[in-house]
Amino acid sequence: MSDRPEPEPPFDCDVAIIGAGPVGLFAVFECGMLGMNCQVIDSLEAIGGQLSALYPEKPIYDIPGLPEVLARDLVARLRDQAAPFKPRYRLREKVCGVEPLAGGWRLRTASGLELRAKAVIVAAGAGAFGPNRPPLPGLEEFEGKSVFYMVQDPKLFAGKRLVIAGGGDSALDWALTLCALAEKIYLVHRRDRFRGAPESVARLEQLSGPGGPIEKVVPYQLLALQGDSGRLDSVTVRSLDGEDRTLEADILLPFFGLAGDLGPIAEWGLERKRFQLRVDPSTCETSAPGIYAIGDIADYPQKLKLILCGFSEAALAAHAIRARLYPDEILHWEYSTTKGLPQD
Ligand code: FAD
Repeated sequence: MSDRPEPEPPFDCDVAIIGAGPVGLFAVFECGMLGMNCQVIDSLEAIGGQLSALYPEKPIYDIPGLPEVLARDLVARLRDQAAPFKPRYRLREKVCGVEPLAGGWRLRTASGLELRAKAVIVAAGAGAFGPNRPPLPGLEEFEGKSVFYMVQDPKLFAGKRLVIAGGGDSALDWALTLCALAEKIYLVHRRDRFRGAPESVARLEQLSGPGGPIEKVVPYQLLALQGDSGRLDSVTVRSLDGEDRTLEADILLPFFGLAGDLGPIAEWGLERKRFQLRVDPSTCETSAPGIYAIGDIADYPQKLKLILCGFSEAALAAHAIRARLYPDEILHWEYSTTKGLPQD
């Protein structure tokens, strides 16, 4: 047996961050300030975690220094704050497996992507979010081209004919917001009534009156998509008594909720308390040395599931990782005010 050390694998990054929620995004900044580069993996098609997926238009009031900030604006600020450290975002990738390597970890995603990192931060919130997808034949061909489960940039829908499907807050709120831009909106729901804030329901009644920009298509369900190479031409819907209608449309936005799936993370053998990973509160290290957990998924005594607590955990984890990766290097502590940001 050779007594030479095993060659170090070519690492893709210093730190792999699972989850691009607010806490994962801030971890990029904290790691970056300590000289470590990051790749961030998320199963969603956009960064921001719960803020983008569940409440982008809601104001948040308890972020220090920002008396009121819309959830989507906080995500944009966190993205900008992380940008100088050039993180690589790998979206629509669900991490399924993590296994040890010499000096680090190998992550595998459901699509087969492999990533080698010296340390792992799990900032996975309540697990991998994924949209509840309608069971439509050939749906995959249209996804990401004319079928979207989240609205990232409303301007992309200007002048388009939209079918919005669903009966909850998301369907209602986006129909009300996008009708100012879109050419036409069909709002498809399998019941006559919408579940939303009373003022939103009242506005819908106004805007769906004769000549209004929104047409309610109720009680109908999605049945089929027509189009070519991912470009939608029309959506067929069927009423509860079997009557079909074809709605000419460029875009389908199905809002049937999101499902969280801790699934793969629960199988990595990390010590857990129900759906959270137990961590040492001084470092955020899990029961596996080199794997850290921060944000909603981390558990320790008196844990508060708040964004601001996740930010502090990101700082603790980054410092612990640096000490782990560079045990012989003394950290010359510097504030951001004295250290500044990297210049291109
Ligand atoms: P998340 O935001 O949950 O992000 C985790 C990300 O990890 C997700 O995008 C998920 O897809 C991804 N992920 C998970 N597993 C995997 C995997 N295996 N592979 C790939 N990706 C994965 N908090 C406050 O502090 N103030 C508030 O005012 C406030 N208001 C709220 C209002 C609402 C309606 C809700 C629902 C929550 C609110 N919260 C608030 C809570 C706050 O949103 C959470 O504490 C915060 O989002 C946690 O951030 P996170 O980064 O830990 O996780």
